[in-house]
Amino acid sequence: MASTSNTTPDLSRGRPYLAIPGPSVMPDRVLNAMHRGAPNIYAGALPDMVAAMWPDLRAVACTSQHVAAYIANGHAVWEAANANLFSRGDRALVLATGRFGLSWAESAKAMGIDVEVMDFGKSSPIDMSRVEDRLRADGEGRIKAVLTTHVDTASSIRTDVPALRAAMDAAGHGALLAVDCIASLGCDEYRMDDWGVDVTVAASQKGLMTPPGMGFVWFSERARQRCEGSDLRTPYWAWGPRAEPSEFWQYWDGTAPTHHLFGLREALTMILHEEGLENIWARHEVLARAVWAAFDAWGAGNPRIALNVADPAHRSRAVTAARLGAPDATRLRDWTERQAGVTLGIGLGMAAPDDPAWHGFLRVAHMGHVNAHMTLGALAAMEAGMIALDIPHGSGALRAAAEVIGRA
Ligand SMILES: *Cc1c(COP(=O)(O)O)cnc(C)c1O
Repeated sequence: MASTSNTTPDLSRGRPYLAIPGPSVMPDRVLNAMHRGAPNIYAGALPDMVAAMWPDLRAVACTSQHVAAYIANGHAVWEAANANLFSRGDRALVLATGRFGLSWAESAKAMGIDVEVMDFGKSSPIDMSRVEDRLRADGEGRIKAVLTTHVDTASSIRTDVPALRAAMDAAGHGALLAVDCIASLGCDEYRMDDWGVDVTVAASQKGLMTPPGMGFVWFSERARQRCEGSDLRTPYWAWGPRAEPSEFWQYWDGTAPTHHLFGLREALTMILHEEGLENIWARHEVLARAVWAAFDAWGAGNPRIALNVADPAHRSRAVTAARLGAPDATRLRDWTERQAGVTLGIGLGMAAPDDPAWHGFLRVAHMGHVNAHMTLGALAAMEAGMIALDIPHGSGALRAAAEVIGRA
């Protein structure tokens, strides 16, 4: 019999887990739904399926208003929102809580929009009283829209959207409110109509559990009317025909993303008709709390280990940004991928990639098609890595995470 004593086991063999915040884990059902020949795009099953799918697309954002879909990623739907909302020279107020808010601002600026950024840093929520004051000072109502992220995936800060709406109302300002829900839709509670949001953008590859390649812009009737004359709008990006097509091709301004649509149909069935949005929000809440509990315990034994967002009220339920001190975050990510089959997210926007400090940040995604054993497994893999790499850490993290899940 061969001896195994001199072999180094490869403990990553088995099903890998991509725990970066997008693309997220794709359910086999979604992948299987896409595995088929090219469908007829003029008549039959595909157009019928899409017509029936639009009410579900509205439902996932909790709106009864309009939705336009694009063959696009998240960056593209920022531009779609910009193009429909603004004319050249219109003013936008961007409230940034991390890299993604800043990037939306940059895209708007490059398109000729007069962008003002209020940057709340990398680990603090929006200060609503400062926003209220700023809007009050805009007596002429020059600011046409306020743009922000529901969850900034880089910092994992979650914005209290109802509080933002309340601040805008308290200032008596009529600006439209546009929210990036790319990381949060289908994970964190979000109610577009109840919360008074005018524009919501999202993409297929995160909470919607479908491969990257489809983007969505939901818009209110108020936004549709207010933005009718926007001169940045070009035929491809115009939201009107996509939201109310008279022929099937107009949903996409061309050929439909055929296979993505079969995948998305399956994902929406799982989200809306099987688990249900409220159950999904509750599942993400528990998984997030398990991750936070583990970090708190690890950090008790090593002050370099900490969550990026101090107050749980302002934390995403879909992704957790944390610091471990450089270079331990990079060492740990490399170890969990190589030795445990778990790929964690890089730190984004927390330090420049050529700064040694960059290696002190990482993110754990708990987004979309993720369950208790996946999150507990990712946390256990991280702890094994800390042991292997001699990274000091407090004890009891796995017990603390299991307590959260066991008592949910
Ligand atoms: C992922 C993400 C984006 C960018 O999406 P891409 O598809 O990579 O262009 C934008 N905003 C947020 C909040 C995100 O999480």
